[in-house]
Amino acid sequence: MTERFDAVVIGSGAGGGTAAKVLSPLCKDGRRVAVLEWGPKLREEEFTGRELEMAGRLYFDSGGFLTKDKSMTLAFAKAYGGSTVVYTGTSLVIPKETVTRWAVPGLEWEDLRRRSEKYAGENNVHLLGPEAINDNNRLFFDACRTLGWRAAQFPLNLKGCKGSGMCNMGCPNAAKQGTHRVQLPEAERNGVLVVTNCKVERIRPRGRGAELGVVVSSSGIGHPSLWPPGRRTIEADTVILSAGAVQSPALLLRSGFGAGLPALGRYFTAHPALILAAQHENPITNYHGHPKSYYCDHFAETDGFLLETCMYFPFTTAKSLSGFGAAHEAFVSRMDLLQMILVLALDEAERDNRVTIGPNGEPVVDYRLSPKTMRAFVSAMRASARLFFAAGARRVHAPASARFIIDKSAEMDLDTLINEGYMQTGRVAVSSAHLMGGCRMGESAADSVTDARGRVHGLPWLYVADASLFPRCSEVNPYLTVMALADRAAEAARERIASRERAAA
Ligand SMILES: Cc1cc2nc3c(=O)[nH]c(=O)nc-3n(C[C@H](O)[C@H](O)[C@H](O)COP(=O)(O)OP(=O)(O)OC[C@H]3O[C@@H](n4cnc5c(N)ncnc54)[C@H](O)[C@@H]3O)c2cc1C
Ligand code: SF4
Repeated sequence: MTERFDAVVIGSGAGGGTAAKVLSPLCKDGRRVAVLEWGPKLREEEFTGRELEMAGRLYFDSGGFLTKDKSMTLAFAKAYGGSTVVYTGTSLVIPKETVTRWAVPGLEWEDLRRRSEKYAGENNVHLLGPEAINDNNRLFFDACRTLGWRAAQFPLNLKGCKGSGMCNMGCPNAAKQGTHRVQLPEAERNGVLVVTNCKVERIRPRGRGAELGVVVSSSGIGHPSLWPPGRRTIEADTVILSAGAVQSPALLLRSGFGAGLPALGRYFTAHPALILAAQHENPITNYHGHPKSYYCDHFAETDGFLLETCMYFPFTTAKSLSGFGAAHEAFVSRMDLLQMILVLALDEAERDNRVTIGPNGEPVVDYRLSPKTMRAFVSAMRASARLFFAAGARRVHAPASARFIIDKSAEMDLDTLINEGYMQTGRVAVSSAHLMGGCRMGESAADSVTDARGRVHGLPWLYVADASLFPRCSEVNPYLTVMALADRAAEAARERIASRERAAA
């Protein structure tokens, strides 16, 4: 079967959902626009909040996608709304200094700020009131103040949050304002067709546009796809690729575009992360309440890391903390005593950190944790231990130490107990949920894949509109920047469609 569209968006996450909305006015003029999304659209009752069930329903590899050397797990979602279904909703505008460091000709911070703030308004971004801040968050902020470290509150994109703390399993209360709640429904109301359970396998140039090979499947959960299971061919005048930082480069590589685009897949960054925990003597409120209200960027410039509050679920916590046996069990079986911090390392964009493809065209992420990142982790672990003790904890988990757990009585020896000798991959659980790069913006095909508006060099019908556009890491939580960049790319695509029509008239 072959279907024809004026524009096709591949993927429906932060980038694809935004692009769909920007293109949707075209439908009112009789043009056909489709979003093809690999994942399902879950029914409301399928957001159960049960950890393992939801991980299997929403994440690629149930959230355990491993890099090639198995040193890091990557979390990214496969669903109507993409990773916005599972993100926590912290909503920051990228700093001006970061965009200056990006140095992409034609990309101005002021433009990104304006677009980010437009989407912050659409998604009801605001600060939670003091009544909604639980102990886990309050203790973090108070300890930062005691230590004299710079910390601030996260703006969040919520409406009717009930503080159930399950944001990363898909909000069971429909409170988080991801693209699945805001931009995609609006695009559909305007006439965009959103086809779920539809994987795009290949893209081929065809005439002045492209031909896509897709497979529709029946996943057994969620609303049925608009199309019956099976293979089909889609023709599109304009294609917007928004499959995310792992899948967008992989799809282009398996479609054979690597030869003309030597930077394709390269300069992948990830904000490599550690989940750290500490035990208090008495229960604190932690898994009730929104999990992430504060961050500390005191060490960003000097040591290359951020600290954020977080609260993870039993399985994720257990697998993220190093150690085994009775000591590990004693730690993880008392969730009610735990305070948690997420460390994000601000990694450099390195040419050899890249997405490649395996024998069946599947993505393989070849990423090495650099010595700089390892040093940042050690320094972040020392800082977190200080913060936990200042907050009143009795013992802290420090994976780069001999026995993984340090008692309050050894507080004065943190610099010796936590050291680089113990900072080994495999010994310390590293994960990432901020996947960036692989189709970076830039000036020419020699060292980038697209221009500053997401147009792929040499392929006028193809645009990229997702986190793969980042030329370096964002240094803050990235989703608003993804939406701002997708807004620019989709606008450029819309202009192309309009100008082609004018030329044809
Ligand atoms: C657990 C978690 C928490 C996070 N928390 C925050 C936060 O609090 N704040 C923040 O700023 N950022 C956060 N992020 C990051 C943020 O969610 C991402 O940066 C953002 O969603 C990336 O947008 P994207 O469009 O590039 O990809 P995604 O949103 O991941 O969307 C890509 C979509 O493309 C689909 N797709 C892939 N391949 C194909 C194909 N071949 N055919 C069809 N469809 C395909 C996928 O199924 C997916 O739905 C978090 C991420 C995770 C995983
Ligand atoms: S804390 Fe709020 S946003 Fe997160 S899952 Fe619960 S209700 Fe949803």
